[in-house]
Amino acid sequence: MKFKALLVLFIVSILSYVLSPSMDYLLKASSFNSFRIQLMYITGSMGIIFMSAAVIISARLSFVNKIFGGLDKAYDVHRITAAVGFFLGVFHLLLKLLNNLLIDLNVLEAPVKSVNKLQGFILELYKACYAYLEPAFYIMIIVVLLAIIKAVPYYYFRVTHKLISVLYLFVAFHAFMAPFRSSWQLTVGGSIMHIFIIAGTVCAFISIFNLTGIMHRYTGKVKNKKHFGDNIIQLEIQLQDKDFKFNCGQFVFLKFSYTMEAHPFSVAGWDKNNKVLTFYIKQIGDFTSKLYDKISADDKVVVEGPYGEFTFQDTGKQVWIAGGIGITPFLSKINSLNGNETNNVELIYSYMGKSPFEDILVQQCAEKNVKLHIIDSQKEGLLTFDKIMELSPDIVSSTVWFCGPVMFRKVVEDGMKQNNISLNKLHFDNFSFR
Ligand SMILES: Cc1cc2nc3c(=O)[nH]c(=O)nc-3n(C[C@H](O)[C@H](O)[C@H](O)COP(=O)(O)OP(=O)(O)OC[C@H]3O[C@@H](n4cnc5c(N)ncnc54)[C@H](O)[C@@H]3O)c2cc1C
Repeated sequence: MKFKALLVLFIVSILSYVLSPSMDYLLKASSFNSFRIQLMYITGSMGIIFMSAAVIISARLSFVNKIFGGLDKAYDVHRITAAVGFFLGVFHLLLKLLNNLLIDLNVLEAPVKSVNKLQGFILELYKACYAYLEPAFYIMIIVVLLAIIKAVPYYYFRVTHKLISVLYLFVAFHAFMAPFRSSWQLTVGGSIMHIFIIAGTVCAFISIFNLTGIMHRYTGKVKNKKHFGDNIIQLEIQLQDKDFKFNCGQFVFLKFSYTMEAHPFSVAGWDKNNKVLTFYIKQIGDFTSKLYDKISADDKVVVEGPYGEFTFQDTGKQVWIAGGIGITPFLSKINSLNGNETNNVELIYSYMGKSPFEDILVQQCAEKNVKLHIIDSQKEGLLTFDKIMELSPDIVSSTVWFCGPVMFRKVVEDGMKQNNISLNKLHFDNFSFR
């Protein structure tokens, strides 16, 4: 889906140029300068379409998430579209700087356009906007670098990333005006650009005013917290308002009153009658290690979601593979089984040392007729795909549901490829959005 979506976006962005009057100029371009100008238009129009797509995806709209197969997969596409849009934007800026340089060196003459009153006004507005556009773009370069460099703590990434929506508005204004200046307005190409920019601008405002996911927000309060094993917190949240509609395997964002940050966690349990959600949270970083001490019973929590398409929606045999804390989306599903699923499910769970989930899993899998294999990778070494095939030879004819570390997923993906098992059968949950 990811590649199809990117291909469609690529074609649409190319069409925005091809179906504009500039295409004619490109075909007739005979000098370096006329070619350079068209290259500016191509990079500009494609760049803003990719940037707008990135902003639209980040608004977490349900129908957009559905297109990509869930929010976590949509964020994968967001990263790629943002990167492509950004690099096209940088290229566009460099071409513009080259233009200025050539004019300063008297190689090129500054263009004199005969314009009517309206065009003159637009041109003035367009030029005035340059004063803000260039600094905005330089700030954007810094913010994007902070996003790309994984060594930068997630908190700084998140805070600075919020700025991107504001910076996008500067770029979007510039891009919105450009078609008027180059007579693209009301052409198919210009309209494609305008539609993306308008949608992107609406989504940028959604993000700036913190309205992301507002239709899926629930109020809850902390019901119970306790340590679970060495570095995991078991957290129960009592929902207070409307009915929570949830499919097993989905996740939500939790935002506690003491912080601005919302963090994603898979729902490990949902007690519909008492409206209680259960989470298992591994203490791995700044937010998760302080969480236990920062929250108390009855503290308000905003629950946003549920999101995700990791919902076990197929019939036939399923092999579930979980690594570490990646067991959480499976817990809610095991609970929901009625035990008559005729051995349709097999769970391979790999953990370093003795897992605090072992007792629950052994008991529940026995009750719910799920064949369970627990692997202590401290004793038995990291799981290989050969070992997985040995444990579950039926994997060849099953769908595979995976949640765990990225390197573990690579092992599963590579193993499936080598054994000619179609990757279409692999469903996975990404535990990281960066
Ligand atoms: C769909 C999904 C489901 C998840 N389910 C669980 C779960 O059930 N149990 C569990 O323990 N963990 C789960 N996680 C991971 C959990 O969100 C992160 O471990 C947690 O946010 C780490 O925050 P930190 O500040 O303590 O750590 P940091 O060291 O700051 O972050 C570690 C990594 O966690 C990710 N992360 C951090 N903050 C966020 C955020 N606000 N939004 C998105 N990703 C973030 C980033 O990839 C980051 O590099 C899930 C993540 C996702 C995306």
